[in-house]
Amino acid sequence: MLMNNLKKSDPEVYDLIVAEGDRIERGVELIPSENFVSKAVMQAMSSVFTNKYSEGYPGRRYYGGQEFVDKVERLAISRAKELFGAEHVNVQPYSGSPANHAVFFALLELGDKFMGLDMGCGGHLTHGSPVNFSGLSYTAIPYYVDRETEFIDLDEVKRAAVKERPKMIISSLTAYPRKLDFKGFQEICEEVDAYHLADISHIAGLIVGEAHESPFPFTDIVTTTTHKSLRGPRGAMIMCRKEDRLHDLYHPDTKKNQAQLIDSAVFPGLQGGPHDHITAAKAVAFSEALRPEFKTYAGQIVKNAKAMAEELMVQGVKLVTNGTDNHLMVIDMRPSGLTGKGKQLQTAMDEAGITLNKNSVPFDEARPFNPSGLRLGTPAVTTRGMGEGEMRVIARCIARVLGDYKDKSALEKTKQEILELVSDFPLYPDFAVLE
Ligand SMILES: *Cc1c(COP(=O)(O)O)cnc(C)c1O
Repeated sequence: MLMNNLKKSDPEVYDLIVAEGDRIERGVELIPSENFVSKAVMQAMSSVFTNKYSEGYPGRRYYGGQEFVDKVERLAISRAKELFGAEHVNVQPYSGSPANHAVFFALLELGDKFMGLDMGCGGHLTHGSPVNFSGLSYTAIPYYVDRETEFIDLDEVKRAAVKERPKMIISSLTAYPRKLDFKGFQEICEEVDAYHLADISHIAGLIVGEAHESPFPFTDIVTTTTHKSLRGPRGAMIMCRKEDRLHDLYHPDTKKNQAQLIDSAVFPGLQGGPHDHITAAKAVAFSEALRPEFKTYAGQIVKNAKAMAEELMVQGVKLVTNGTDNHLMVIDMRPSGLTGKGKQLQTAMDEAGITLNKNSVPFDEARPFNPSGLRLGTPAVTTRGMGEGEMRVIARCIARVLGDYKDKSALEKTKQEILELVSDFPLYPDFAVLE
């Protein structure tokens, strides 16, 4: 119904949406931060809630007409609490980066020291990159993975923390294929009087599906995007303990507890009106994630990643840390003589119907714009219903492209094989209903 209107009123944009639908339908989506939401989530996103202004929080708004917005935001919050076992939840952050910004803004002073995983080792831009607010406005002390094992070494993190005395330590990953020891991070933070921020954007779905250890209830603050493995709309949330463990040390002059500091940082500190249509869609996604099937889904994501990693290694492909424990893996192309060829390989994979992204590998000698690695993961293909058998087929296709990336006819052949594979897994089989 909605799409029918669009087709008439703006055929140009309509055609682009249809073309994008076709692109994802005909390829395999392996970017580990991407996923496909349910039609229910999509419908909530395109609802009348997009029109509303509701600066403030439920029961304390600056505009009228909040009867239903308040209900939907309270619903999203209570479902998030149930899902994660969180004490306090703010569902208003527009996306992951603003959510992290709000935590910095709430708890740190400009220039304060904090520690985050180096981007080349799998950390996110907002964990201290020199071109990001986090590295520009605060003093970022990166920690690295071990050069030999490529695993995070908590003893090293602790040594650096004791020496540097940061005010916050971030435990997180965007391109690190192993599990995070949240308890270990929290212990270090308690020892050096630092806040512990666990940014679980990538692995939130695995955590609620019990396929990864949870940072709850002990972690001070947890941020997450809602659109990655959690399979919700594009957005984020902040969860935290109500009381500030370090209040007397760092915020003796305010009566606000940690939850209040964070809420004020989100609004009015950094944001204006919340995106109520996204809040509604978050509530829908949280209820989907509360169902028992979601646990099966999360477990399958990890099984699929392991199957794909195994087959890639059988094919002679080198993986960072030689495998995966989560939903993602990083191919290290240096041993294959493809140092600094990430861009070319990403393009070749696109031509073969395989969507993934170029990525730095730990201690990469090549530049981030054309690095020596490829990052891939399984949340989206698992949503599509694929299992370990399909993962092995895709892995063999990837290995072939790595060998023949300049050979256009080989890429075309792989593309046909991928097309055949995906034809058994329609993505939005009932998408036409929207038209
Ligand atoms: C994706 C991601 C973010 C940022 O999310 P955006 O919605 O792209 O701003 C932050 N932290 C981590 C760990 C991420 O993976």
